[in-house]
Amino acid sequence: MIPAKFDYVAPTSVEEALSALADAGDDAKVIAGGQSLLPVLRMRLNAPEVIIDLGRIDALRGIRDDGDAIVIGAMTTHADVQADPLVREHATLITKAVTEVADPQIRHRGTFGGALAHADPAGDLGAPALALDAEFVIAGSGGTRTVAASDFFVDLFTTAIEDDELLTEVRIPKKTGWGAHYEKFVRVAHQWPIVAIGAAVKVDGGTISEARVGLTNMGSTPLRATSVEQALVGQPATDEAVRAAAASAGEGTNPPSDLNGDADYRRHLATVLTRRAVLAAAGG
Ligand SMILES: Cc1cc2nc3c(=O)[nH]c(=O)nc-3n(C[C@H](O)[C@H](O)[C@H](O)COP(=O)(O)OP(=O)(O)OC[C@H]3O[C@@H](n4cnc5c(N)ncnc54)[C@H](O)[C@@H]3O)c2cc1C
Repeated sequence: MIPAKFDYVAPTSVEEALSALADAGDDAKVIAGGQSLLPVLRMRLNAPEVIIDLGRIDALRGIRDDGDAIVIGAMTTHADVQADPLVREHATLITKAVTEVADPQIRHRGTFGGALAHADPAGDLGAPALALDAEFVIAGSGGTRTVAASDFFVDLFTTAIEDDELLTEVRIPKKTGWGAHYEKFVRVAHQWPIVAIGAAVKVDGGTISEARVGLTNMGSTPLRATSVEQALVGQPATDEAVRAAAASAGEGTNPPSDLNGDADYRRHLATVLTRRAVLAAAGG
């Protein structure tokens, strides 16, 4: 199917984009890489009257070092995030997760901000962003506000971004020297995860001193396995200790049941994948 007819606007600044959004009201939709929105338009699950293309707003693209955080512009492609040395050094979990997003073609078109704004619970970037305490900078007609990751993901495909607002950048607090791993379970390559786990750990002299664990596709939003994180702290980075800590990974989750597996299967997967992710992260 082809999308329903729409008007197309291509602003060159955030201010122009916000004003186009305000003019169009509920009838507008912004497009970033189009990798999620275009299929939705083609299936006519949504038929906005105006499409606002963010592709010409250079200010939304790029990665910078901002002292204690790495800042990723919303329109930075997955491929550029994947290749960035600052991200690799200070937010390794993001590098690991973005490498698992779809395939190279999609990673060259899709954007970091677009994926997070889309808020698919099976998306690979939400749980790592949550685990790393990312902050989301959102621009609107009244100015800019910053939303913590714990408040950003509201529900299935729903974030704290209002209809008249734009995600401009994502701040990731540095975790320099931490080990990280993203363990994604799929049936075939380049698929959305059935379940995936993002882990980042700080290991001092063989003991885990800090830990972050994010769960993908274990509920309507990305989740943080805080009980696992607490259980890991002070433990040796051994299979036995990590296995025991990972046992609670499925607690308090509400995963979907579908043809790939039911909720109990996903809870089981969460414990197995958490153990693998933490051990891989702790191993460097
Ligand atoms: C075949 C296929 C396989 C895929 N596999 C995976 C996968 O394994 N893992 C994974 O994580 N993703 C996967 N994706 C999705 C991919 O990561 C997309 O890049 C991502 O979901 C959306 O990014 P985008 O830049 O293309 O956003 P778009 O499709 O342009 O937009 C998505 C949504 O976000 C909104 N939006 C975009 N940017 C902003 C902004 N700055 N401010 C406010 N709202 C905004 C749009 O209005 C729209 O509602 C896959 C996609 C395809 C087509």
